[in-house]
Amino acid sequence: MLCQITLILQCRNHSHGPHLPGVGRHGLCASESKELAKAREALPLIEDSSNCDIVKATQYGIFERCKELVEAGYDVRQPDKENVSLLHWAAINNRLDLVRFYISKGAVVDQLGGDLNSTPLHWAIRQGHLPMVILLLQYGADPTLIDGEGFSSIHLAVLFQHMPIIAYLISKGQSVNMTDLNGQTPLMLSAHKVLGPEPTGFLLKFNPSLNVVDKIHQNTPLHWAVAAGNVNAVDKLLEAGSSLDIRNVKGETPLDMALQNKNRLIIHMLKTEAKMRANKKFRLWRWLQKCELFLLLMLSVITMWAVGYILDFNSDSWLLKGCLLLTLFFLTSLLPRFLVGYRSLVYLPTVFLLMELIHSLTWLSHLAGTPFYFAFLLSIIGFFYFFYKTWATDPGFTKASEEERKTNIITLAETGCLDFRTFCTSCLIRKPLRSLHCHVCNSCVARYDQHCLWTGRCVGFGNHRYYIFFLFFLSIVCDWIIYESFIYWSNHCATTFREDGLWTYLNQIVACSPWVLYIFMLATFHFSWSTFLLLNQLFQIAFLGLTSHERTSLLKQSRHMKQTLSLRRTPYNLGFTQNLADFFQCGCFGLVRPCAVDWTSQYTMVFHPAKEKVLRSV
Ligand SMILES: [Zn+2]
Ligand SMILES: [Zn+2]
Repeated sequence: MLCQITLILQCRNHSHGPHLPGVGRHGLCASESKELAKAREALPLIEDSSNCDIVKATQYGIFERCKELVEAGYDVRQPDKENVSLLHWAAINNRLDLVRFYISKGAVVDQLGGDLNSTPLHWAIRQGHLPMVILLLQYGADPTLIDGEGFSSIHLAVLFQHMPIIAYLISKGQSVNMTDLNGQTPLMLSAHKVLGPEPTGFLLKFNPSLNVVDKIHQNTPLHWAVAAGNVNAVDKLLEAGSSLDIRNVKGETPLDMALQNKNRLIIHMLKTEAKMRANKKFRLWRWLQKCELFLLLMLSVITMWAVGYILDFNSDSWLLKGCLLLTLFFLTSLLPRFLVGYRSLVYLPTVFLLMELIHSLTWLSHLAGTPFYFAFLLSIIGFFYFFYKTWATDPGFTKASEEERKTNIITLAETGCLDFRTFCTSCLIRKPLRSLHCHVCNSCVARYDQHCLWTGRCVGFGNHRYYIFFLFFLSIVCDWIIYESFIYWSNHCATTFREDGLWTYLNQIVACSPWVLYIFMLATFHFSWSTFLLLNQLFQIAFLGLTSHERTSLLKQSRHMKQTLSLRRTPYNLGFTQNLADFFQCGCFGLVRPCAVDWTSQYTMVFHPAKEKVLRSV
């Protein structure tokens, strides 16, 4: 008997534990049926399973007892005194074998029951039992049926925030624009009833209609979000392009509603968006937006020349130069805000870096013809080549068409693998091993290393090698510039560090040519970070076999662990030579056998033929 109780407890935990919906975050809990509320309560222990009635046996999943009672003549279609069928009890408690058994004995899959006149499918969805939803749909349950509150299956999944069920229902062909009894789509319901960014953001991935209106109030999803003061939903809907001009039955736009509700944050959001959209109507503005990157480039060129010009300005007054520099920085920090959108601003460091190198190329042009200039030119060609390769090569973005995504979701759900720890809710795909979703690029990237500030691109499986060479050539180029600056000072400034001491030497070189000092300082800055990153990357690749992201997340994890975690003992570390051979795909004239693993399509584990071992996730 003790064994039986333990088993029951395990079953109970399985069916109720992880799936309790977020009580209190939506307005439905108060109107839940008595049966659902009862099912939600913890089931009391039963001492003797051989004498319990069929409802209790179904709730506890005691298959043998149910079978015994049905074979003794119990009609599986017969509802209990609360008008609830056995199939309902089996569905809400996720008893898959009992559902199969009852249906084989003639139970009606879409039987209506309970206070809310719901089907077993509705009950399973409220509880978030995806395997039960899959099973009931396989037996022909109709997801378009509406319960006593007017909600269809997809509406219930949205209200109770069960994202895997939403994804599964839509992938199985449920329309994302399906309306409930009041003409509300799932998007309206989510914007109105569920505070927070999800599931509104999740629904938007399936391209729902943004500007449909409901039957009664004629509100759009944006109206509903404003009415509920749901700031996150308003933000998501504005980003998706919801209309600001549609009027509801009272003739109110979303802004009118926000003004009435005196929600200052939402008023600000709506007004800013309206202003931005109005600007887009001007041809000049559209032209400026098209040329954003070019403008950014020009701005950097002008700024850099202006800084150099001010420093070299024929005046002894450093106060004047300081004031001019301050004005310049003020202007250049203001201009991008008006001319360039946020999306292009992320390329500012890239443009800055490129411009600096082009400047130094022109500065060193007086050395043309010398062996130094030849070496410098080769390094700078190497730099631009690998910069271009890092920028232009696909780092390993995951691509899937809408149809492929839906098929993927169905396959994953039906094989029990629709786990939101390994499924990307933004890309709607299963995340490959070692991949991560980059929020700047808005895509999952295979063997993700980092989103590089200086190249403006993600570094991943596809372009990681080029990135290493990019860092290498950048530090070489900066090295040359630093070297040439010292040569310039020794030739043009009548001072040496040894004779005059540090202070006089510094004063002299500043007076000699502030422009050279300026180029020197920029080169030193780029040299420091590129060399540091290069050494760090080479260490990670050769000695740890890890990416930067993996290393930092493992270090973070180890802070919370009792025992210290050895980064060298991960499954990806295959030894110094093998790590390098795999990374650069180079066999060193047959000395090592590099293994070509395609990280864009590995999901659980990878077999490494050279080392004859299986690599699992860390
Ligand atoms: Zn993703
Ligand atoms: Zn990225």
